[in-house]
Amino acid sequence: MSQDSRLVIKSGNVFDSIEGKLKENLTIVSKHREIVWVGDEGSFEKEENDKIIDATGKTVLPGMVECHVHLSGVGDSQYEREMLRTKRDMYNFMALDNAQKHLVSGFTCVRDAGCYKGIVSSLKRVLNNGLFAGPRLVGAETGIWQWGNQETIGPQALIDFDREISVVTAGVDNVKYAVRDQKKLGADYIKTATTGGVLHGMESKVSMVLWTDEELAAMREEAHRLGMHVGCHAHGDDGIQAAVRAGIDTIEHGSFMSEETAKMMVEKGTYVIPTRLAIVCLASSSVHKQMPPEVQKKIMECYNQARESHRMALEKGVKIAIGTDAATPGNFHGCTGLEVKLMVDDIGMTPVQAMQAATIEGARAIWLDDKIGSIEKGKLADIVISDKNPLENIDVVVDPKNFSHVIKDGKIMVERGNITYFSPIQKIKLD
Ligand SMILES: [Zn+2]
Repeated sequence: MSQDSRLVIKSGNVFDSIEGKLKENLTIVSKHREIVWVGDEGSFEKEENDKIIDATGKTVLPGMVECHVHLSGVGDSQYEREMLRTKRDMYNFMALDNAQKHLVSGFTCVRDAGCYKGIVSSLKRVLNNGLFAGPRLVGAETGIWQWGNQETIGPQALIDFDREISVVTAGVDNVKYAVRDQKKLGADYIKTATTGGVLHGMESKVSMVLWTDEELAAMREEAHRLGMHVGCHAHGDDGIQAAVRAGIDTIEHGSFMSEETAKMMVEKGTYVIPTRLAIVCLASSSVHKQMPPEVQKKIMECYNQARESHRMALEKGVKIAIGTDAATPGNFHGCTGLEVKLMVDDIGMTPVQAMQAATIEGARAIWLDDKIGSIEKGKLADIVISDKNPLENIDVVVDPKNFSHVIKDGKIMVERGNITYFSPIQKIKLD
């Protein structure tokens, strides 16, 4: 397929993610990176070099959006041991491999929620330049953290790692400086946290917030001013509420959300990204038994409450997008289809709602809905062609073998679970 030829996806049943409907027998034409035409087969001008995919009887989906992963981590249950055995520069290659796993599974846009400095912004450029098959990346560089309401458990490599992947700061001016610095380093959005985490040991209070309202508001203001949204890790309700009050855009996890907070989120249009798969993996027996006792206890508290919180959030009308937190123990990259299925099986979405969460809602949550999330003229040609219809059976999105093609930027990158895109060899022209 030459640079100038168009890609024509002929006569498929196209999922309209905005209306939540399947529209039968539509043909999509893309040129360069963009969708240039959607309509009836036969009513557009054919060109000689058109590359045609016959999608008759197939379901054509917008490329899906994964809103929360850590690309450099691999999901080893013994992640401390894994870190001790990994050279720093190896993470660059692991991040590429992990990013490709998301692409293969139909997720053409992936938001990273924190890695070693420089990995995601560099990988993003490499992928944008077409050197490898890979998804569209949105990265936070390092998070801007409150620091001190949790004791980091060892070994020393892990403590050093936490320092390296974090900006530790306090005070309104320092927070503004940190936001600008992240932007300069290549961040697309700002990641922060208003509570401790499940894996950080009993000293990590998921109920305690250290940021002041002024600091959080300054972070959001400065980020928005620079065209970046803000995502906030928050388990406990006080932390969720502090972030929502400050106008932060996405709540990551939202495990102990109260009805009052859910109401505030509806009013403000705040998204929650439940990362259900992270806690489900941690609670699974093979992973759970490898965790220290105090972490085991926290996992079960969180597992039991989070489902209720997320079911309540859905019922109250809180906006939900899809993210797995892939790289937490047992939670491997490339399995985000399972998170979509859990939204149906555990949280109570219809398959249509779950597919909207995986497409247009994800795009809206991360401020990319002018470019991706739906199949429309003018948007980027990120498209998944599926043999079966996930709106009838959500299990379809769990197995990438169901996808005959995964297309990003108008380029066929994956066919039936195998990467088929490689950067072309440049021809040498001798005089
Ligand atoms: Zn995370």
